Amino acid sequence: MVPKIIIHGGAWDIPKPLHQPHLSGIKSALKIGQKILLNTDDPVQAVLAIIKNLEDNPVFDAGKGSFLNKMGEVEMDAAIMVGSDLSVGAVAAIQNVQNPIEVANLVRTKTEHLLLVGKGASGFAKEQGVAFIKTEDMLIGREKNRFKKLAGQDKVNIKSFFETKKPSDTVGAVVINSRGEIVAGTSTGGTPYKMAGRVGDCPIVGAGFFADDLIAGVACTGWGEGILKVQLAREAIDRIKLGNAPHKAASGAVDYMRSRVAGDGGIILIDKKGEVGFAFNTPFMPVGVATGEKIDFVHLGIG
Ligand code: ASP
Repeated sequence: MVPKIIIHGGAWDIPKPLHQPHLSGIKSALKIGQKILLNTDDPVQAVLAIIKNLEDNPVFDAGKGSFLNKMGEVEMDAAIMVGSDLSVGAVAAIQNVQNPIEVANLVRTKTEHLLLVGKGASGFAKEQGVAFIKTEDMLIGREKNRFKKLAGQDKVNIKSFFETKKPSDTVGAVVINSRGEIVAGTSTGGTPYKMAGRVGDCPIVGAGFFADDLIAGVACTGWGEGILKVQLAREAIDRIKLGNAPHKAASGAVDYMRSRVAGDGGIILIDKKGEVGFAFNTPFMPVGVATGEKIDFVHLGIG
């Protein structure tokens, strides 16, 4: 099988001046993942490298550049799932680490658990030798200003962020190697001005992500509460199982979310045959796809 990668940079109404930074961020992460995948044929390493690169890029709401919560702090969620053995590692509401995806993978490989949250997750990261990053060093001006603006409002409707010109640049990746091994990963700073301790879909298996070599790998983005309610990743997986082609499975799942909970967001996926699919119901969702040595495309979801 020819190795394949699909990645996304969040589903939302991206303002024009941010189109180019999103496209170049997706392109460089895709290239990094492609190089690793071609050299090692290891889909875990490829997903980790892609997500780390996107977490380090302040354009995206993951790692550095994450939204601030109501307390003016950064709490991040991330997850990785390996489709050969269904192993999962995830962290939620983690603080003071540069790369939550790295800690998620340590949960997968070094513990008997699937998900660590809050102080437990940050403490585990420290124990594993992951560098401590001060909250101030995670904050960027754009998000500090957004926080100030939101904190000055009487009422903040978080769901509306996914419907109007508001941000949501969560990141995700799905990779398949030459042996048909599939890995999916996600990372996010969540939603702007969320309550402290709020956890979205990104670290929840079956909601924000899923990977099974026998079926497909999926990563989701969008309004986390809606994604959780309909178990969006699982919804797409079930549609693949019913025989839908990847694009149809992805769009069917997004339409289902819209019709059941008025949810907005998007999905990327690769099925066991190595075919990619994606769908979203927001104006844009930056997507990049690579097949073997070729970059198939990088665009804002609309080719
Ligand atoms: N799904 C993420 C969350 O609700 C946000 C996003 O995808 O942009 O935490």
